[in-house]
This record gives sequence, C-alpha cells and structure tokens, in this order.
Amino acid sequence: MGYVFDPPKQASVALAGSDKRFPVRRIFCVGRNYADHVREMGNDPKSEPPIFFTKPADAVVDSGAAIAYPQNTSNFHHEVELVVALGKGGKDIAEKDAMACVWGYAVGVDLTRRDRQAEAKQGGQPWDVAKAFDSSAPCGALTQMNAPPASARIRLSVNDAVKQDANISEMIWTVPEIIAALSKSWELKAGDLIFTGTPSGVSALKAGDAVVAEIEGLEALRFTIAR
Ligand code: MN
Repeated sequence: MGYVFDPPKQASVALAGSDKRFPVRRIFCVGRNYADHVREMGNDPKSEPPIFFTKPADAVVDSGAAIAYPQNTSNFHHEVELVVALGKGGKDIAEKDAMACVWGYAVGVDLTRRDRQAEAKQGGQPWDVAKAFDSSAPCGALTQMNAPPASARIRLSVNDAVKQDANISEMIWTVPEIIAALSKSWELKAGDLIFTGTPSGVSALKAGDAVVAEIEGLEALRFTIAR
C-alpha cells in the first residue's frame, strides 16, 4: 500500500530546553474566558457556558517566525493565551482527573480575522474563516509541568508597546473545567493543544509589527508580521 502523494509533515511544537518536538493532533480553543475581554466584545461574562472552536493542527508556527499578513482580512488581531498540551486524554473526563492529562504549557497567540468573525457572529455562521486559517496559531516552546503557577502574569506587546496585560488567575473557566467540558463533546488524546482564551486589549496587527507574548514561568513567544 502506498499513498498517491507524500503525506503532509506531522505538525509539532518546540520544547523548552530540548531538541525533541511535541506532535500536535488537534487544536481546541476557548472563546470568552476572561471577563474583561468578554465585556470589550460586548457580552456578559456570566451569562454563557464556554464556547469552543478549533484550528487545524498545521496552523501552529514556532517562535521566531515571520508570519505573512493573511489574505481576506483588513482587521487582523492578536489574542495572547495560555496553551495547555495534553499527554493523555479520554471522554467524559472528571474535573478531578483532568490535570493528570496535562503534559505541559506554552504561550500561544490565537490570530484572528476580526472582520470575518464579526460577520460570522452577525450571520450566525461558523468561525472557521475567522479563526482556522494558515499560520493562525503561533505557539512558543512547551514546558513540561503539571500546573502553571496559580497566579501568573500574561502579557503581549506590539513593537514594545504593551497591549494585553492580565493574570491567568482571571480566567472564568479553569484548566480542569475546560478539559472536563471539552471531553463531553470530543475524545481528547495525547497531542491535543488547548488555547484557553484571551484577556482584554486585543488590537490590530500590520505588516512589520514585532509581537512578544509572555506568561511568567514559560518561554516567551516572539514573531513578526512579514512585509
Ligand atoms: Mn482566542
């Protein structure tokens, strides 16, 4: 048996302090997980359960990349997020068992075509065009650890100007709650990444911008938008 053409390369992310790489199976994302960002987008933080959407595994991009300004948008936004990497999974995972599934953490940015997202929301349409495009998931090197610090500053700057500055303790849905909730709809597996939502301060990127995304205790993620 052979393939009719060479299969695509396995998507993967870097590890902090190792030449090995973490193979990526699927990318899940949480919408509306910091109260101040929910308010800045015009919604009530307490009124709704978590929103999930996905990106293709090959949307990941390593730190240090120059990312092309995407086609089909003129309002291209950054969203800095804590990324959870799973070393095992399951279905209907109980919250008390969820942390045993975690392999490690990284800093990620959920790149978003905000104009296309606004149209999708207005029209009741799916978010794929807004969220699941090529190179839409830059992800820093993963650090193997059971839990991130309960309180860690999460920040993003563009050309040295701070745009997002919050604390992961402000997340509405905690990591075990997110894993438990996702596993009610999907069988999670080793290699899954979860982007856990962004705090307020999202803004538009343009060609030539230099982005630095940081969470205390993790390796920083840096990328530029190619001219
Ligand atoms: Mn997001």
